[in-house]
Amino acid sequence: MSKNPDTLEKTRHSLAHLLAAAVLELYPGTKRAIGPAIENGFYYDFEFGKPISDADLPKIEEKMREILPSWGSFEREEVSAPKARELFKNEPYKLDLIDEFENSGEKITTYSSCPTSTSYKLQATSCFVDLCAGGHVEKADEINPHAFTLTKIAGAYWRGSEENPMLTRIYGFAFRTKDDLEKHLKMLEEAEKRDHRKLGKELDLFIFSELVGAGLPLFTPRGTLMRNLLDDYVWSLRKKAGYEQVDIPHLTKKDLYEKSGHWQKFGTELFRITTREGHELAMKPMNCPHHTQIFKRKNHSYREMPQRYTSTTKVYRDEQTGELSGLTRVRAITQDDAHVFCRFAQVKEEIGKIWNIVDEFYAKTAGFSLQVRLSFHDPEKPDAYLGSAEVWKRAEGELRMIVSEKGVSATEALGEAAFYGPKIDFIAHDSLGREWQVATIQLDMNLPERFDLFCINEKGEEERIVMLHAAIMGSIERFMANLIEHYAGAFPFWLSPVQVAVLPVGESHEEYAQEILSKLKDAGIRAEMRAGETLGKRIRAVKIEKIPYFLVLGDKEKEAKQVMVESRDKGQLGAERIEDLLQKLSVQNAEKR
Ligand SMILES: [Zn+2]
Ligand SMILES: [Zn+2]
Repeated sequence: MSKNPDTLEKTRHSLAHLLAAAVLELYPGTKRAIGPAIENGFYYDFEFGKPISDADLPKIEEKMREILPSWGSFEREEVSAPKARELFKNEPYKLDLIDEFENSGEKITTYSSCPTSTSYKLQATSCFVDLCAGGHVEKADEINPHAFTLTKIAGAYWRGSEENPMLTRIYGFAFRTKDDLEKHLKMLEEAEKRDHRKLGKELDLFIFSELVGAGLPLFTPRGTLMRNLLDDYVWSLRKKAGYEQVDIPHLTKKDLYEKSGHWQKFGTELFRITTREGHELAMKPMNCPHHTQIFKRKNHSYREMPQRYTSTTKVYRDEQTGELSGLTRVRAITQDDAHVFCRFAQVKEEIGKIWNIVDEFYAKTAGFSLQVRLSFHDPEKPDAYLGSAEVWKRAEGELRMIVSEKGVSATEALGEAAFYGPKIDFIAHDSLGREWQVATIQLDMNLPERFDLFCINEKGEEERIVMLHAAIMGSIERFMANLIEHYAGAFPFWLSPVQVAVLPVGESHEEYAQEILSKLKDAGIRAEMRAGETLGKRIRAVKIEKIPYFLVLGDKEKEAKQVMVESRDKGQLGAERIEDLLQKLSVQNAEKR
């Protein structure tokens, strides 16, 4: 629960209490764990005597609606640890929490929801009491009984640790109005249709192999083509901004990460390797430390600054199996990574250049609307970050100024910084209105300190420099997932693995079709001929594959030396000369719109 929950968050958390009350009535003896508000709803973790399934959810939901009208306000009471232990003597998870609160010196509070009338038959005289720090609606009648629903159950370890018992988590959605709830459910339904895992298979873009392992996607020729198109495009934008490509190995000695701080910060997420000679290596979880060593190969004069290095390369993170999901959460992540090594005075100009690339790539090309977030460190948790408070203040001040000079409104999020520096994060809204964190620009004054990076300034002195981390797509896997869902698989022309399908009506038209196919290919258009089955079948297949254009070639077209064009987005375009069509398609390829 955040410090100042809004009404909707309070409603969601109050519903978690209601869910627990309903569960206890239906399944007496169930042990309760915790029940917070989350994005779009709430959950509660329980230990059931007998396992339940999704089929039990309607019954529980009905019980919640039955109890709700009987609840009055949420009454807070501060209790001593012994009293709390007495109250929750049969609830092992609550007892565990009470121990924790007592040890940390936190106040222990309970909240009671008591019946307002005696009409409620089952619990007319008893209140529902939960151990809770607060964050509820004032009165239970503020909760709209038609704007929530239980959605699913899932397993969840107590305190998130595999060493603890597995509990049953019941999830629910809750909104202000029934209308909002229905909109959300509709959006999810649409999202399911667009699920990149489903479309990735249908469009033959990527696969997973049990032999290779979970979280390690394999890209097919079509999927690889798309990745390369995206990466080449980012590189073309970077090249114009003065970046240079560098190449680095996927392994490193432990020493590099001890110096960078990754060894401690990444901890169990690192894939570690011991060589036959007993040396400890790791698969790289990030590229920055490697790039620092390229910069450090020689002393750079201020005249050579900035140095801008980019590598599209994989990083590896040992994500827990339960956290893996399609391309959005994988163990081998391809980053289109870049680092700018520059003087502090050059930060503004360099960030401006990266920002232009982000605008060009996301807003103009992909049609995402972008929001800007300043992700700063949490001053209350200095241990979570590298570097002094002063360094953070300077870096965050600089980013705040750059954003305000740009005239862009940005939200500030404390605790969202990288461990080595604050970030400007770009949040994209896709065609379903969902939020994705996409590009990020990070200002890092800590790694240059740790690796002693400097340039020789005008006075011949060593001057400490700063680093900018500037991935545009971030993870190409996650970005592919976003794109597939954003476009529902109907990619824009420039990004479509197959751009044009050529369909001869019958065998006698295949020679002419071959001629057209060659012309398309010579013009750099990715085209394929589809022959053999009935024309109707082939047209249906082309539509399922979401190919942007198909050309039907029969007697009439052969005679007139034309092609009959149909567009995926605009329908029938009629007959035209292949030369005219090629010109239009080349423009679409170049414009990338
Ligand atoms: Zn509560
Ligand atoms: Zn980096």
